[in-house]
Amino acid sequence: MSAAEFAVFGHPVAHSLSPRIHARFAQDSGIPLHYAAIDVPPAAFYSRLEQFGDAGGRGANVTLPLKQIAVAECAELSDFARRIGAVNTLTRRLDRHWRGDNTDGAGLVRDLTERHALDLRGRRGLILGAGGAARATAFALLDAGVEQLMIVNRTPERADALADAIGDPAHVHTRYWDDLPNLGSFELIVDATSAGHARESLHLPFGLVAPRALCYHLSYGAAAVAFLAWARAAHAGQALDGLGMLVEQAAESFLIWHDVRPQTDAIYAELRAELPLHATD
Ligand code: NAP
Repeated sequence: MSAAEFAVFGHPVAHSLSPRIHARFAQDSGIPLHYAAIDVPPAAFYSRLEQFGDAGGRGANVTLPLKQIAVAECAELSDFARRIGAVNTLTRRLDRHWRGDNTDGAGLVRDLTERHALDLRGRRGLILGAGGAARATAFALLDAGVEQLMIVNRTPERADALADAIGDPAHVHTRYWDDLPNLGSFELIVDATSAGHARESLHLPFGLVAPRALCYHLSYGAAAVAFLAWARAAHAGQALDGLGMLVEQAAESFLIWHDVRPQTDAIYAELRAELPLHATD
């Protein structure tokens, strides 16, 4: 088989659904391509990426734990990637340097506003977490019109650093994790922590959930189960996981590389059948 022109880099990466999603996009769009998964630890990322590019690699997705270090490999960054300090999409330029984009935020907003037809404007939002995905979430939700954003992270300094980076003290606030029972209720709650991957429950108070609130976990599958169960028990209007975000961020990468936005409904439905949501929507 010919060398891959597209790939996802991560460590580990065997679990990634990106090769399957991009293969479906390519098939549906009539664009032949070879998309591989490349497992590389952070210390070897730069040399492996250059090897990939020299062998004809045209574009790469980047996942954990490489999103932040990928910024340093880019000669050019999109505004969004620069603002959040993380890259998930690399594009090889004609001069053989890399351009970095980040499609996570656009993927989240597209899933919420297009697939689920939700209006984010004017909502009071809470983000749990302050890692790379929380950074993308915060900037994207504010861009989409969320009115007030509270950021709460286990390590409070990271929440403060994110709020400082946003630089909008009239709309963005931070609180300590121990203050969660005293924060009132929110119309939008996003769990952007990785706690679910370790099967850790966050023990969130039900009082956080406003009537008809939207509760969204950025993960999908087993990692999102405890949060979604909590949201339903708290009578959230909707309890959604990040499968749609995953598909939509991939579609945004596909658009950057191929100038075609692929249809996402078919692959979303196929993956959803394998990873049922059991949601209230
Ligand atoms: P990250 O940079 O490693 O950040 C992890 C965050 O989780 C940090 O804020 C961390 O808090 C917090 N955390 C971890 N364990 C916790 C616990 N037991 N209690 C409370 N907080 C805890 O990871 P990331 O890249 O932001 O990813 C976060 C999640 O988003 C992952 O589950 C990932 O799968 C998901 N994600 C989904 C998509 C998608 O397309 N659907 C895209 C990107 C990411 P500290 O700062 O205190 O350590």
